[in-house]
Amino acid sequence: MNHPLPGSVRRRTRAVSIGRVTVGGGSPVVVQSMTNTDTVDVVRTAIQCAELARAGSELVRITVNTPEAAAAVAPIRAQLDRMGVDVPLIGDFHYNGHRLLGERPECAEALAKFRINPGNVGHGRKRDEQFAQMIEIACKYGKPVRIGVNWGSLDQDLLARIMDENARRPEPRDAVAVMREAMVASALESAARAEAIGLPGERIVLSCKVSGVQDLIAIYRELSRRCDYPLHLGLTEAGMGSKGIVASTAAMAVLLQEGIGDTIRVSLTPEPGGRRTQEVVVAQEMLQTMGLRAFTPMVVACPGCGRTTSTFFQELAQSIQEHVRQSMPRWRTEYDGVENMTLAVMGCVVNGPGESKHANIGISLPGNGEAPAAPVFEDGVKTATLRGQHIAEEFTAIVDAYVTRTYRRRLADR
Ligand code: SF4
Repeated sequence: MNHPLPGSVRRRTRAVSIGRVTVGGGSPVVVQSMTNTDTVDVVRTAIQCAELARAGSELVRITVNTPEAAAAVAPIRAQLDRMGVDVPLIGDFHYNGHRLLGERPECAEALAKFRINPGNVGHGRKRDEQFAQMIEIACKYGKPVRIGVNWGSLDQDLLARIMDENARRPEPRDAVAVMREAMVASALESAARAEAIGLPGERIVLSCKVSGVQDLIAIYRELSRRCDYPLHLGLTEAGMGSKGIVASTAAMAVLLQEGIGDTIRVSLTPEPGGRRTQEVVVAQEMLQTMGLRAFTPMVVACPGCGRTTSTFFQELAQSIQEHVRQSMPRWRTEYDGVENMTLAVMGCVVNGPGESKHANIGISLPGNGEAPAAPVFEDGVKTATLRGQHIAEEFTAIVDAYVTRTYRRRLADR
């Protein structure tokens, strides 16, 4: 059983409205994602935005890198509206954002937020001018901005200045500390500049993405100590498969546990043919296993061992997990609180009945040498013993009946 962090542990930040979604101000941590389609391809991009939103992404970011991409933004928004998908869209700008937003007011209007990378807005005097142009457009259209620093494109002038300052210190810090300070300084100085231009502090979100776990933790702790803007967390270039998942979770879980982070993105590289929505599933599972949010019923399963007699136990755990995920879009609309349900699928009686009793519904399959019977517990009480060839179907029916009975009743009681 998970117990969420007490509210007092969450870092208190300003609340920023991004379309209908609130980030910060004590709101639940928001899950976001980014498309990997060519934005110019309106239909494919709208379809992927819809897939990400249906998977649970509460904000979706799209690349806006060319005049053609900027021209596609409003049609993508319109297509999503026709599909009944109201997820707020964020535009990701680099190098030419000032020009694209200036030339395409309908693009600026269709977006719910602009992401500005202060390391990629130009150099010297041009950098300040172009940054100011983007902030002025955000002010004009009432849009929030994420000032998103990335160590792969850190403002080189600022880095040189921080290095010079460091060299003048009686005890200069090492290169890693200087890089981390430059990241934090870039975010905070850019935010101060945006506020000086006229953007209210309540429309600013900050991020400082790096690809090293310890760097990310150190940078966000410092950022959190020095400002009260909401923070977007994410390990950039996390990688593919289990490495990307583990690295992102290792970094973000430490910060989230300290109450740092108001919105997250898991930057996974999809495997060839893999689904873009996986990054949303991982983000949700991270938040849910930490007890910070509930999105979908969780299935607890033992790892299996020499006591498990066949792969049937793994197949049952997988089929129940898939049944839950597939049912959730409908369950979410019909059953209040179903996302808090817990299921246990266990391989034998050693830990099976005990774990089953802690879940809302649990089943223990017969292990090696045990009687061919699978006891089922509902809310701690044994309600059935399944036998034979149809255990999976019967257990699925028990889960469906439990959902209908338990969560519909709660809705009716309101
Ligand atoms: S519950 Fe049983 S089958 Fe599962 S890991 Fe424990 S001993 Fe093995």
